[in-house]
Amino acid sequence: MKIIAIGWNYPRHNAELSVSTEKPESPVIFMKPDTAVLRDGEPFYLPDFSDEVHYETEVVVRISKMGKNIARQFANRYYDAIGLGIDFTARDLQRKFKQAGDPWDLCKGFDNSAPISRFIPKQDLPEFQKLNFHLLLNGKQVQTGRTSDMFFSIDEIIEYVSRFVTLKVGDVIFTGTPEGVGPVHVGDHLQAFLENEKLLDFKVC
Ligand code: MG
Repeated sequence: MKIIAIGWNYPRHNAELSVSTEKPESPVIFMKPDTAVLRDGEPFYLPDFSDEVHYETEVVVRISKMGKNIARQFANRYYDAIGLGIDFTARDLQRKFKQAGDPWDLCKGFDNSAPISRFIPKQDLPEFQKLNFHLLLNGKQVQTGRTSDMFFSIDEIIEYVSRFVTLKVGDVIFTGTPEGVGPVHVGDHLQAFLENEKLLDFKVC
């Protein structure tokens, strides 16, 4: 499986990282390898190459059908379930890479940088454009998001990405983070909720 992720998809998050809050011409896409996946509430171990790893809570979509060049109006036939993920980011490295114009692979795709929850069948959820989600860090709400705030909807992301990359069953798409990102430290407890259902619950070691 591959993990496809979109950057800069929520205007207020872009503002907190001092990038343009205008809608980009096309989605900004990066990928994480399958070795980034962390599941089942396993603890996240802080890596030794970063002093500033940030959480980014994101809605995650599971691809259920192989496809290439998928038209937007048919995109919803290609995913069957929705969950939550954390797009852990080594922010200090990312800053360095951005300054140098280098790719983001290592600051975004390191081992265990993608905790992913169990998935909820999409028919059991309100329509995708109206999902609410939030993150508790040590019991305090630090991020809250609404998929209606995204620049690019999941169907637009699928249309765009599948022009370049074939989507396969089991691939997942991280759809971007709202504002409120911040660092994690040893001992932190993360709990992420889709609507009011807790989907992620793990500790930082
Ligand atoms: Mg992200």
